Amino acid sequence: MSSFTESEERQTLRREVAKLASTYGREYFTRQARAGEKTTDLWLAIGKAGYLGVNIPEEYGGGGGGIGDVAAVCEELAAQGCPLLMMVVSPAICGTVIARFGTEEQKQRWLPGIADGTATMAFAITEPDAGTNTHNITTTARRVSDEHGDGWSLSGRKIYISGVDEADSVLVVARTEDARSGRLKPCLFVVPTGADGFEHTAIAMEIVSPEQQFSVFLDDVRLPLDAIVGGPENTDAGLVQLFAGLNPERIMAASFSTGLARYALDKAVAYVKQREVFGAPIGSHQGLAHPLAQSKIEIELARLMTQKAAALVDAGDDAGAGEAANMAKYAAAEAACDAVDRAVQAHGGNGITQEYGVAGLLVAARAGRIAPVSREMILNFVGMHSLGLPKSY
Ligand SMILES: Cc1cc2nc3c(=O)[nH]c(=O)nc-3n(C[C@H](O)[C@H](O)[C@H](O)COP(=O)(O)OP(=O)(O)OC[C@H]3O[C@@H](n4cnc5c(N)ncnc54)[C@H](O)[C@@H]3O)c2cc1C
Repeated sequence: MSSFTESEERQTLRREVAKLASTYGREYFTRQARAGEKTTDLWLAIGKAGYLGVNIPEEYGGGGGGIGDVAAVCEELAAQGCPLLMMVVSPAICGTVIARFGTEEQKQRWLPGIADGTATMAFAITEPDAGTNTHNITTTARRVSDEHGDGWSLSGRKIYISGVDEADSVLVVARTEDARSGRLKPCLFVVPTGADGFEHTAIAMEIVSPEQQFSVFLDDVRLPLDAIVGGPENTDAGLVQLFAGLNPERIMAASFSTGLARYALDKAVAYVKQREVFGAPIGSHQGLAHPLAQSKIEIELARLMTQKAAALVDAGDDAGAGEAANMAKYAAAEAACDAVDRAVQAHGGNGITQEYGVAGLLVAARAGRIAPVSREMILNFVGMHSLGLPKSY
């Protein structure tokens, strides 16, 4: 096998996922979104087939593969018009963090449901006042001991949290006081969405998707001692745990974007081949053909960088993967924004209709420049770490 192509196994996985996703397709996804319904049946179908948890260790109900495998699943779903944001969150961020740092008991409790889709986990770090500067989060976890026993009390507010309504629990990033120094340090807690004091409210977003974003309010949410990832004696590990989720998050976001871009480009190409205006298919004009060819190149480059980043993560090189994962995420978001914009243009007036569904991709593609990490923060990373420039913030 050449090192520049994916393994036979990965390519087969892609074909199988594409086949399953095509039986649902964009029409299903949009219909559910516009009706305020969910895509739970697709989610459970990919869970049952073993695709959702393909990166989760086998002993906990997963496929035993790597981040490259689950990223391939995410990309192929999006390429069929079914981009599932919760794939970025549940199996890739939460699954990775728990599989690497959870206690044996925590892995047994949470991973099988993440793998088969029956116990989806959301992820909450963003706060209204801290924004991109996550060092400033103020959600706090206090150790409490009262008539309910020993445990934690969580209070704070999170924003733009995806899929809370579809999740059983949320992996919440909070800060707790170091017993020795009194300084606040990050810790990760698994919070059931049904816990007392946990509330969520949908934010009206412009994205055409069944998956929604939420404001989350935590008001003295009581949790057992072992709700902290790694166990209560492991309160120093939060930062390392968070970092372990970053590369998977970026690789998955990149795959979400390249899949979306492929979907838009495929639609545009099919359209310009058959639409005739001046007696020939409009795709014969370079004014349309060249931008689409550019998109093809940009998408392939982004995919290649995504595969490189995934290969590095799966080889255990987290530090080396950081640069590639950031670059992949940046390139993929840019490729998706341009591909969708060009697809709208290629469709003329039809590009803005709900029937053709191209303009409906615009906001989802655009969100890729903002979340889970903005293009500016990636440029900051590359400026500082790849180019050795001074820190600019
Ligand atoms: C669709 C969607 C889903 C999301 N899902 C989740 C989720 O599941 N869980 C979760 O925790 N969060 C989630 N988020 C939140 C997302 O991670 C944040 O929106 C993102 O990190 C940006 O933070 P912010 O919105 O507070 O923007 P701000 O931090 O207010 O930034 C605003 C702008 O300023 C720029 N900026 C800020 N600082 C600098 C600087 N130093 N240099 C240059 N530019 C700078 C940013 O790049 C951005 O363009 C989601 C967001 C969206 C849109």
